[in-house]
Amino acid sequence: MSEFDFDLFVIGAGSGGVRASRIAASHGARVAVAEEYRVGGTCVIRGCVPKKMLVYGAHFAEDLNHARRFGWDIAERRFDWVSLRDAVLADVDRLNGLYQNTLDNNKVTTFRETARISGANEVTLASGQKVTVGTILIATGAWPLVPDIEGAEHGITSNEVFHLDALPRRVVIVGGGYIANEFAGIFNSFDSKVTILNRSDEILRGYDAQIRDRLVEISTARGIEFHLNTTPQRIEKASDGTLSIHLNDGEVIEADVLLFAAGRKPKSFDLGLETVGVALNDKGAVIVDKYNRTNVPSIYAVGDVTDRVQLTPVAIREGHAFADTVFGNTPRTVDYDCIPSAVFSDPPMAGVGLTEAEAREKLGDVKIYTSDFRPMKNALSGSTERSLYKMICDASDKVVGLHMISPEAPEILQAAAVAVKAGLNKQAFDDTVALHPSMSEELVLLK
Ligand code: NDP
Repeated sequence: MSEFDFDLFVIGAGSGGVRASRIAASHGARVAVAEEYRVGGTCVIRGCVPKKMLVYGAHFAEDLNHARRFGWDIAERRFDWVSLRDAVLADVDRLNGLYQNTLDNNKVTTFRETARISGANEVTLASGQKVTVGTILIATGAWPLVPDIEGAEHGITSNEVFHLDALPRRVVIVGGGYIANEFAGIFNSFDSKVTILNRSDEILRGYDAQIRDRLVEISTARGIEFHLNTTPQRIEKASDGTLSIHLNDGEVIEADVLLFAAGRKPKSFDLGLETVGVALNDKGAVIVDKYNRTNVPSIYAVGDVTDRVQLTPVAIREGHAFADTVFGNTPRTVDYDCIPSAVFSDPPMAGVGLTEAEAREKLGDVKIYTSDFRPMKNALSGSTERSLYKMICDASDKVVGLHMISPEAPEILQAAAVAVKAGLNKQAFDDTVALHPSMSEELVLLK
């Protein structure tokens, strides 16, 4: 018998933590997991999944607008935020149940309370119970960053946005990244007046500049306002709930909802890490080696708390690799090269590999192929919005990056990312017969 109560104690039942728990248990480990909120984590409970549902809901606006051009006569159009919100939250409940079932079916003990590390092999639960453990996995994710400004408490974050009582007439969003642009598209479709405040002049840093410019162009034409090089200085709330957002240039913008989407910080605080000396970097992220091990040999970390790549599928892979390494006798690391990603803005963007700027800096000599096209559906709907696909190749014509903004871009890019990851060259795309008529055929017709 082991000297410990459990072989593995996972703190945080999100994407990385649940995968690590399940796989470690399948390798025969006695596993416990502590979760202070709801099993499923940010992605399932208040992130990717409910956000995508809202994106689906929002998209009906465009389809209904265009419906008449396709022969449909829809007499009455009315959007009810509460109906959509409640349907989305009900689905979150369903998924929360499925994740709990996964843990139960794998005989993982769940503690529904906060856990703190009180020793290299000990965890103390909020109830005061102490648990001895062979290995600890920190999988607590990240937490929205709220700027330290007067009146910031009047704003909300992505944690609260799914629970709004009513659809706001005016929304101001602080930040210009993933969450900002995704919720800008959602609220704009619901006819809210949306203003984005970004502290620099670049939104969605890390994505290809031409693709980002196209998003700003389309979003602006749809009525979303971008205030760049702007930060809020102070927020006041009037008795009727109206927020006055005072900007650094003296301007004041009124809103019903202020959404902070200014990045997420690793949730490494209030965990007792200092008691055992787990090393953090200057952003508060837990420092780990390629096997997800911290400087304390019995303590590991995966997912957003390590701030390597803040994406769910990456956290899942890290959790799986950790469990195989430590409990499955199969040391595994995660390959971080060529990770596809998408922004579910409207239209969405997606990309894999190097951007043009990155490729020029890294490789010098690059070839760029593009297709700037009006999707066939827009010809009939009357929309003037254009899509853009962009392929970046090295001197030998090997594809090193693929970027797009278009309806269904994330669906198309996931498949194309296989070719980029496999190291195919442009000729392999050209040799593939176009699937006509589709938007994705542009991928094999790039000039
Ligand atoms: P992002 O990192 O995407 O963007 C943060 C934005 O906030 C940047 O535009 C940044 O500006 C700006 N910013 C940072 N600090 C401040 C400040 N103090 N005042 C004003 N603006 C500020 O963060 P998000 O919160 O949108 O998302 C967090 C992470 O979650 C993402 O990085 C992503 O990994 C993940 N995510 C992924 C999604 C997906 O896969 N579709 C969806 C949602 C989230 P600047 O660039 O100028 O510094």
